[in-house]
Amino acid sequence: MTNDEVNKKYIPIIGLEIHAELNTRTKMFCGCVNNTDEVNPNHNICPVCMGHPGTLPVINKQAVKHVLKMGVAAQGNLADYTEFDRKNYFYPDIPKGYQISQFKYPLVSGGLISGVELTRVHLEEDTAKSSHDATKSVDANADKYSLVDFNRAGLPLMELVTEPVIHSAEQAVTFAKELQTLLRYLGAGEANMEKGEMRVEANISVSRADSKTPEGKLKFGTKVEVKNLNSFRAVERAIAYEIARHIDILEATEIGNTTEKIIQETRGWDETKQKTFSQRVKEDSNDYRYFPDPDLPKLKLSEIPEFSRDSLYAELPELPWQKRDRYKKDFGMKDEDAEMFVQQSLMREFFESVVSKIGTENVETIKLAINYITSDLAGLIKKTDSILEKIPVSPEAFAELIMMIKNSEVSSRGAKDTLAIIFTDGLAGNISTSAKSVAMSNGLIQKNDPEELKRILSEIIAANQSVVEDYKNGKQTALQFFVGQAMKATKGSANPELIRNTILEIIG
Ligand code: ADP
Ligand code: ZN
Ligand code: MG
Repeated sequence: MTNDEVNKKYIPIIGLEIHAELNTRTKMFCGCVNNTDEVNPNHNICPVCMGHPGTLPVINKQAVKHVLKMGVAAQGNLADYTEFDRKNYFYPDIPKGYQISQFKYPLVSGGLISGVELTRVHLEEDTAKSSHDATKSVDANADKYSLVDFNRAGLPLMELVTEPVIHSAEQAVTFAKELQTLLRYLGAGEANMEKGEMRVEANISVSRADSKTPEGKLKFGTKVEVKNLNSFRAVERAIAYEIARHIDILEATEIGNTTEKIIQETRGWDETKQKTFSQRVKEDSNDYRYFPDPDLPKLKLSEIPEFSRDSLYAELPELPWQKRDRYKKDFGMKDEDAEMFVQQSLMREFFESVVSKIGTENVETIKLAINYITSDLAGLIKKTDSILEKIPVSPEAFAELIMMIKNSEVSSRGAKDTLAIIFTDGLAGNISTSAKSVAMSNGLIQKNDPEELKRILSEIIAANQSVVEDYKNGKQTALQFFVGQAMKATKGSANPELIRNTILEIIG
């Protein structure tokens, strides 16, 4: 069998569990500052988030709101009644012996993002962060220490679980990226994977395409869970690796070539080896003895006006998929351009203010703007080494430049040069608000006034009669001399084609 035929025999099944830290002023249940950039360990801590006995947690309203908005955006069901539960287990990063989470009554059930059905979205607290093998960092005589930093303890953490309906590594990445974009649009979180603000766990199994349950549904294979995926690339590669590993085992089993079995287990991703590895075999499912946290009030969401679906809905911004559709429909944007604008907030904000200057009804001009942003401006940005906090071009000047191109006041060469000057000035802190004055002072305004050009050329010709003679005697390069002189006189702003025609007209 070919590789293709083998792959057709099987259907990968993937479900994701994604945690995302939410953007709030304070932590989930206490007044400590929520700052994921804090570099000093154990700086933002208090008895509540350290889990000291006798302390009382208080629910962070903003965090609840973020999750509910997420639910509205994904068209999921918002809970009416909800509560927080204690998930009991011991680990040094959760010394109070339980994590406050939600079990029976998640804030959101169902919903759809990127065509993937959601099971639930709930709210919990993040744990502290352990660093293992902190070799000799504390005591020079010791071999190893494990250290715990509580800055992260008690940060509001959203957990989103999808149904097992994803069928490829690429689809899983598309989903995770869309979730990241959505979190950013909602202002719910930064969701940078490399900072651990968003963490993806993938559940993977492989079914034989022809194996059905008695009800005629696809029979699921044994699933494994892969953790520690801290980049989109890792998500994609780990899932692809697992799918291939499962298929290999299933194929080898079929021809009696192995005794190896797929076992239900938790695996990690080894970035160096680009392989998954077994971390622990799931024995019985953990018994966390969930029970409602007696220190926290139950929430009856319908009694809180600002949590009603309507008022949350009214606060939603234009969502990523809505923006994508609008860009394509209204401006005929290419897929990759629409994607770039949807994902990159600096470019998007710039583009949207340029559009507001040009006016949405001027579609052709906006298309021209899109071209200049995605090619020339993007090119200039790429050439700067530093990461830009802001695009150093004012949307006014940019929109004006586009209008000048449209009105043939500047050639496309002249426009590129004008933009480069505006950009360089802007990087140096001089933000020009007028493209016209920049083009003018650099002699980049296109001189397409035929009378003016005729006057300039007549002068040049009069001063160079011998060259005219040469031309008349058949020396073609003589014409090039005049074009060069005219370009010089107009600082390169004249149309060469027009120059050539005008010369011929004069010298006949
Ligand atoms: P567990 O009890 O092991 O935590 P859940 O049923 O709660 O499993 O599901 C956890 C995640 O695993 C969900 O994202 C779900 O979609 C996914 N999942 C469940 N069964 C499978 C399967 N057979 N293959 C792939 N993913 C699965
Ligand atoms: Zn605290
Ligand atoms: Mg589960």
